Amino acid sequence: MLIKIALLFISVGSAAAALKNPRKLYRENDDESLLPSLYTDPIDGIDYRLPNNTIPRHYDIWLSTDIHEGEFDFEGIATIQIEALEDTQEITLQIRELTILNVKLMRSTGGSIQSNVPFRIRDDVEFLIITPSQQLIKETIYLVEIKYIGTLRDDDAGFYRSSYIDETGNVKWLATTQFESTDARHAFPCYDEPGIRSSFSISIRHDVSYTAISNGPQESRVPDGGNYVVTTFKTIPSVQSYLIAFIVSDFAYIENNDGSVPHRIFAKSESIKAGDADLALTASVYLLEKFEEYVNISYSLDKMDQAAMPDFAAGAMENWGLVTYREPYLLFNEITGRARDRENVIATISHEFAHQWFGNLVSPAWWSYLWLNEGFATLYENHLTHLAYPNERWIDTFLVETVQPVLEVDANPNIRPMTYYVENPIRIDFLFDSVAYSKSGSVLKMFQYAFGEETWRKGLNYYLIARAYNNGAPEHLHENLQRAVNEDNLGSDINVDVIMSSWETQSGFPYITVVRNDNELTFSQSRFMYTNQDSENLWWVPINYVVASNPDFSNTKPDFWLEGTQQNVSLRGFSIPKPFTNNDWIIVNIQQTGYYRVLYDRTLWDLILQELHPYGNGYEKIHLFNRAQLIDDSFHFARAELLDYDVFLGVMRYMEKETDYIPWASANRANNLMSRWLSGSSAYPRYQSFMRNLVEKVYNKYGVNIIDGEQRVDRYVRAIAINLACQAQLPSCLTDTANLLENVLREDSIMAPDLVAPIYCNGMRLRTNLSARFIFMLSRLSNSNSPSERNSIITGLGCTENPETLTNILLWALDPNNDNLSVTERSRLLLSPINMGEESIQVLISILASQREELIQFNLLTTLCSNIAARIHSERSNTLFMSQLIDLQFIGALSMSQVNNYMNNALTILNWQENKLKSIDEFFDLVELQATTTTELETTPTTTEQITPTTTTEQTTTTDSGAMNMVLGGIVLKFAILISFLL
Ligand SMILES: [Zn+2]
Repeated sequence: MLIKIALLFISVGSAAAALKNPRKLYRENDDESLLPSLYTDPIDGIDYRLPNNTIPRHYDIWLSTDIHEGEFDFEGIATIQIEALEDTQEITLQIRELTILNVKLMRSTGGSIQSNVPFRIRDDVEFLIITPSQQLIKETIYLVEIKYIGTLRDDDAGFYRSSYIDETGNVKWLATTQFESTDARHAFPCYDEPGIRSSFSISIRHDVSYTAISNGPQESRVPDGGNYVVTTFKTIPSVQSYLIAFIVSDFAYIENNDGSVPHRIFAKSESIKAGDADLALTASVYLLEKFEEYVNISYSLDKMDQAAMPDFAAGAMENWGLVTYREPYLLFNEITGRARDRENVIATISHEFAHQWFGNLVSPAWWSYLWLNEGFATLYENHLTHLAYPNERWIDTFLVETVQPVLEVDANPNIRPMTYYVENPIRIDFLFDSVAYSKSGSVLKMFQYAFGEETWRKGLNYYLIARAYNNGAPEHLHENLQRAVNEDNLGSDINVDVIMSSWETQSGFPYITVVRNDNELTFSQSRFMYTNQDSENLWWVPINYVVASNPDFSNTKPDFWLEGTQQNVSLRGFSIPKPFTNNDWIIVNIQQTGYYRVLYDRTLWDLILQELHPYGNGYEKIHLFNRAQLIDDSFHFARAELLDYDVFLGVMRYMEKETDYIPWASANRANNLMSRWLSGSSAYPRYQSFMRNLVEKVYNKYGVNIIDGEQRVDRYVRAIAINLACQAQLPSCLTDTANLLENVLREDSIMAPDLVAPIYCNGMRLRTNLSARFIFMLSRLSNSNSPSERNSIITGLGCTENPETLTNILLWALDPNNDNLSVTERSRLLLSPINMGEESIQVLISILASQREELIQFNLLTTLCSNIAARIHSERSNTLFMSQLIDLQFIGALSMSQVNNYMNNALTILNWQENKLKSIDEFFDLVELQATTTTELETTPTTTEQITPTTTTEQTTTTDSGAMNMVLGGIVLKFAILISFLL
């Protein structure tokens, strides 16, 4: 399954959401508070596992639904062929929220043994225990027929209901399924474990005006009295219960006429008519063929259906032959869609198609090995897309959007390992975390490169063939990769099981310290964590490196393995794989294909910094991915107090020449934290000036206009450049974005979709003529029904850097008489300025003081306090915040423990500043000194001087805020009129 939940505006306090949303949060949320799935006690004392004394050989499922009438009750008959594995008195299956009407036991030939078999239900473990009067005999096949009723759920799980409003304004209901991980038992009694496979035949009785689809192709559709028909599907051979799916709906579809496999894309008819499924269809035909070619095994089923669901809990689900999606992950509109939206569709289809082999053809023996599904799907979500669209740099973005972000999460001392045993269904759901997806994908990528693509591919092919229509465990993967490694003579010392297990069964990942003494190179490994804790973990680490005098970054095979029994290894003389001189820098982990960080001794860092120095041209000698690695590693080593910030800032200096997305993505993530920590401090203006200098070239290259035919990554780097340049107060950025925003709003035209987020926000920063843009923004908000546009406007409003305007916006957000915002939008608007720096935080603290009643009324008080606490950047803010907290405790709005928590959190950034500011200031002293000595002849005024003079700004502010108050009143009134008119 591809887990994606709706993007949270602010992720602080959203631990549960972060757990379920690895990929999405990394991309669109920079908060360091992403919480991984932590070690929990895996066993709660209850045995949830099936007893394994009987197993299913075949299911015949018959279901009847009246969903076309909005009727939610359904009926079912499950006839299950079972085999007794031992002599037993009981048959145990799993059910959830079903009412069993009758159980019948028959011989395999159909003759009745007992027509009304007693049964009992154990709610704690969701067991249906059937107790026939006669003992079942070992190795004998029986038929168990279970009649039952149930209700379509409303929580997007099991057999559930969904609805949408059609073009004529009518509500249309549909019935659909989402079974992974343990909800198949809600649609029919079954052996609901991933390692248990069986064939399935499915029939559904439904209204003639609706269509039923399922995993297999339709076999027949026959009248069944009145307006009913029964649709029967071709039997699916050997599948686990969670991959079964069916949909009863009035959806329309499009289909292909080419390709070896028939593809259909189902969606609401208006989406089909608008052409929103066209991209998915074209991409699907192409991607499935590419993956068949890659694994050299044909797709198993006769057809591939995909459906876009109006209500869907995850991002998508790989049900065999019937993949289901949340609408935005399958549908794409050429006019309104962003590059990211297109990417989400293509990457999600790739992910789900990879599952058709990894997960479906071979299922995980138990949920402990969920990474065998999700790790491969994450890897191929990019790699398969790269094979299909080789010019779109899918492999490149994997590094900065998957590997580097998960290294951050995986540094948590309480993180779980990839292989992790749990039984309780709730805990099983929590395994769908960033370890199962991003970490496992990154670790698998490391082995793909360490063993080499050809060997890797061959090994995967052996694995899939050996375990086809069966379940798989890591040992099966290891054994088949070993076969390929041996055949390709990669070295007798390569024990795949030992090597890979060290990554699968241990938590976290290593950092490699590299020390050079004359002719000796020492590599040592330790677990990387932000806190200073002991760890015994050691890994088998593929090490390779490049030296300055021979800068060949193309071969990613290991030069040697740092063994899982070695804390360190010293190489000298002939044992050194690549010789070097004392003037050579060394870069370890070529193209950062290894899942680890690299910490150099100071001499080596200095040589690297020399090469990267902006006054030289050496940076291009170092591979693009390793430039991104140097930024990411140096920043996180500084964060972990293993390196000084001056090294990180020194690496960053070369960015003034960099215009590629990959290093900028790493730099952007680091900046998100750096700017937050420095905001409000004495060093912040110097940091802004430093960033302004770094971002100027890339900003000038990309500007604020989309260029026809450019790559998706060009659009991503443009958005970063705009955000960073405007944050750093680059005057051209402030005016360009403000002008573009004003023009688009004034002319009531459409902003290019990729520019909406960066321009709606940054276009609000410039204080000059702010009121015009503000009025237009509110007017557009009042006219917009599009949730995504409304969100962009709301976020944009919070980007204003004028405290008085911001105050007015927030008062409007909390005005109880303002019914133009939904509850969620009110909260979004309130928190929209949270990452905008010191001044905005002070405005939020003043709102805490003046709008207590409203904050309590809308249940926003604790959310606001915890968000402010995480962003206290100055002593002044801290004093103001503390005094509010004491008052709030005094009036009983906050408890003592809440207040203590907030007060402690509020010290985090201040403590950091106290420890780090001195060395950061020294770094800026040096940079400024160098700048003065080398740019004496330049006559361009400094960028700070180009900013509108303060006095003018203040005058504008005053005028603006008066106008805005009137506007706000007017808009409220306008919304009220609009609403009363509609009613
Ligand atoms: Zn998946």
